[in-house]
Amino acid sequence: MKKRVFVAGLVHESDSFNPITAGERDFPVFRGEAMLRRRVDNDAATGILDTLEAQGYEVIPALFTHAVPNGLVDREFYLQIKDEILTAAKAALREGPIHAVTLELHGSMTVRDFGEAEGPLLEELRSLLPGVPIFAALDMHATMTPRMFENCDGFAAFQQAPHTDQRETGIKAAQMTVAALEGNAPRLPAMAWVKVPLLVAGEQSATDVEPMVSLIREVRASEKKPGVLAASCLMGYPWCDNPDSAAGILVVARDRALAQAEALRLAALLWERRHDFSFQTEAYSEEEAVDLALAAALTAEKPVYLSDSGDNPTGGSSSDCTGLLSRLLADERTRRLPTPALFGGIYDPDAALACRGRVGQALTLTFGAKFDRKTSRPITATGVVMGFVEDWEGSAVALFRTGNVDIVLAEKHIGYVTPALFTALGRDAARAQLVAVKLGYLTPGHAALAGRAILCLSGGSTNEDLKSLPYERLPRPMFPLDRDFPYDPGEHLSLKG
Ligand SMILES: [Zn+2]
Repeated sequence: MKKRVFVAGLVHESDSFNPITAGERDFPVFRGEAMLRRRVDNDAATGILDTLEAQGYEVIPALFTHAVPNGLVDREFYLQIKDEILTAAKAALREGPIHAVTLELHGSMTVRDFGEAEGPLLEELRSLLPGVPIFAALDMHATMTPRMFENCDGFAAFQQAPHTDQRETGIKAAQMTVAALEGNAPRLPAMAWVKVPLLVAGEQSATDVEPMVSLIREVRASEKKPGVLAASCLMGYPWCDNPDSAAGILVVARDRALAQAEALRLAALLWERRHDFSFQTEAYSEEEAVDLALAAALTAEKPVYLSDSGDNPTGGSSSDCTGLLSRLLADERTRRLPTPALFGGIYDPDAALACRGRVGQALTLTFGAKFDRKTSRPITATGVVMGFVEDWEGSAVALFRTGNVDIVLAEKHIGYVTPALFTALGRDAARAQLVAVKLGYLTPGHAALAGRAILCLSGGSTNEDLKSLPYERLPRPMFPLDRDFPYDPGEHLSLKG
C-alpha cells in the first residue's frame, strides 16, 4: 500500500501598517481535487505535489490558498481555513493512516486580533497527528516563531529574491518528507534555528547583489555538505509590528551537532554583513526620483522604470497611495513624452468598475487613497478609458488615460509583477519611455525591458525607511533601529531532534 502524505498550503505576508484586512475576497481557495489540478510554474505547492507523486506516495490534498501580500488577515476567514485543513486531516484519518504532512507556508502571515497564523496551524496538526513527520516550504521573508519551530520537523525557504526558486523549494520540502519516510519507522532530522536581530527591507535583500550573493553562496555550500537536508537564510519581514520579528538561520540536518554548527556559522556571517545591506539600484526621494526619471525618459531609447517602492502590494502595501502618481501628473514634462507614461496601478474597486463598458469614452473619476488615507489624497481627473479586462488573475482591470499617463485601476489587490498586464490592456511597455510600477526591485519580466531602473523611496505601508515606522511591539535591540549592541549567535540558538 502506498504511504499517504497530507498536503496543504496557506500563504500570506501580512503588513500591519496597511489598514486593509485581507479576507475571503482576496484569497482564492483550491480545495481537494482543485488543489491537485492547480499546477503552476515556479510554485512551491506544485513542486511538493509533483515530487511526492513521482516518488510513489499517495497525496491527500486538503486545500491551497494564497493572496497577494496585504494588511493583516481576517480572523474569521483564517479560523475557517485552519478548521477546514484540520477537518480534511480528520476525514483522511478515517480512511487510513497519514504517514506525513508537507505544507507550503509563508512564515510572516499575521491575523488581526489573533497573532501568528502558521504556529497555531502546525501546533494543531501536530496534536492531531502525534509522531507524524511534518515538513514545510517557506518564503525567504519568513518570520520564524517558537510555535512554528516546535511543531515542525523541517523547513526549507526560498533562496532567491526575486523568488525564482519556489518550485525547487517545494521539491526540497517534499524530499525531506520522503527521506523521513524511507525506513520502516519515521526518521526525523535535527533542526537548528538561530535568531538574528536584524530587519532588512526586501529591496535590500535581492540575491544578485551583495551581501546576499555571498550569504546565499554560503547557504548553498552548507546544503551540499553530507548530512545537511536544508539550509535557509530567513530574512524576516519588517512591515509588521511583531514581537517575533527578526531575521534568522535555519538548518535541517541528519545530525544535531551538524545542524547546530552550520546554523551558528551562517548566523555569525549574516550578522557580520549587516552593514552591507543597501539598495541594488539607484534609490532617491520621490521628488528626486521623478525629476531624474522624466529627464531621462525624454531622451531614452528603452523604458525608464520607476518603482513606487513605499506602496508595493507584493510587499504588503495597500496599493492605493497616490504620491508618486500625483507628482507625475503635475510635472509638465510628463505631457511631452512621445507615448503616454504607464502607471501600474491603483487598487480602487469603484473606480475600476466605473470603467466597465466605457472603453473609448471620457469620464471624470476620483481614485486612490481610499484604504490608506494617511499617506496621500485621492486624485480627481478627467480622462478616457483606453482598455478594460474583465478577469486579470481574478480582478477586473481598467486602463484610464489622463494627463498623458495610462493608469491601471484594479478591482482587486493585485501585484504589478509582469508587463503582460499592460499588454492585456493594449499597451506595449517595451515601447513606452516611462513605466512606473508599484514594486520594489523589478521582477525579471520588467527588468528585461528596463533601460534604467530608479527606486522611488515613496510613502506607504512598505516604506523603505524602517526607522520612520511606528513600531510598538518590535523586540529591541534590533539593527538598524539600534546600531551598537553585542550579539552572540549561541545565545539565540534553538535546537531539536
Ligand atoms: Zn518574500
